[in-house]
Amino acid sequence: MKILTSGTDLNAFLECIRCSEGRLLMLDYDGTLSPHQIERHEAVPYPGIREILAEALASADCRTVIISGRSISDLLPLLGIESGIEIWGCHGWERLGPDGDYTGPDLDADISTGLEEAAEWATAEGFEERLEIKTACIAIHWRGLGGKETAGIERDVGERWHEIADGKELELHRFNGGIELRPTGMNKGMVVDNLLSGSEGSAAYLGDDLTDEDAFRAISGRGLGILVSPGLRETAADVWLTPPEELIWFLERWIESCGKTDE
Ligand SMILES: [Mg+2]
Repeated sequence: MKILTSGTDLNAFLECIRCSEGRLLMLDYDGTLSPHQIERHEAVPYPGIREILAEALASADCRTVIISGRSISDLLPLLGIESGIEIWGCHGWERLGPDGDYTGPDLDADISTGLEEAAEWATAEGFEERLEIKTACIAIHWRGLGGKETAGIERDVGERWHEIADGKELELHRFNGGIELRPTGMNKGMVVDNLLSGSEGSAAYLGDDLTDEDAFRAISGRGLGILVSPGLRETAADVWLTPPEELIWFLERWIESCGKTDE
């Protein structure tokens, strides 16, 4: 654990949660609530996380939101929580409300065409096993490969997808274990900004990856940005926690400070 920004007082923050007007807990999934896995469909939460989330969802005046680059339909079986949770998927392009209401991405035709072209190219080039087609973006994963092979895939995919994105509202992003092509105009920072604008009181965002940096910048000065990672790197977050022990420690402190509906 390390405090990264001057003026951040983690103990004071935790003490203030209970007396805040409201509580907003925003969580990335992969690498934050679950360890990264070579097989993406095996990325289940760390032991104890599901129980903590269930407690958070049962708490009064605590809004708990998952913000992920995965598609919501892909995330739900891994999360193991069937109802009552709010999820923003594919970096904010789709949303599942706590009441089960779903809003999907509304993409322009040239964006959809560009994503389809990029996916077709990747399949034709032999990347089908590494290709993830999501509701609003596509990704190539290379977790588990050596550095030389990774560099080759990154170069080839990056060059071709960059050409396809040219002139369209599409952009390339690196993340931990791959590269992604996604529409411009939405990111995790915009989701955090949206959620914070409708909330009062204590707020925290926990994430691990480069795509979480938008969220850390969005919450800066308005709540606590927490980098959850085995190693420290350059980040806009306020605090660095290592998973799972420090992560669970923080989440348990958060839950303790939320009222329970059955009390
Ligand atoms: Mg992540």
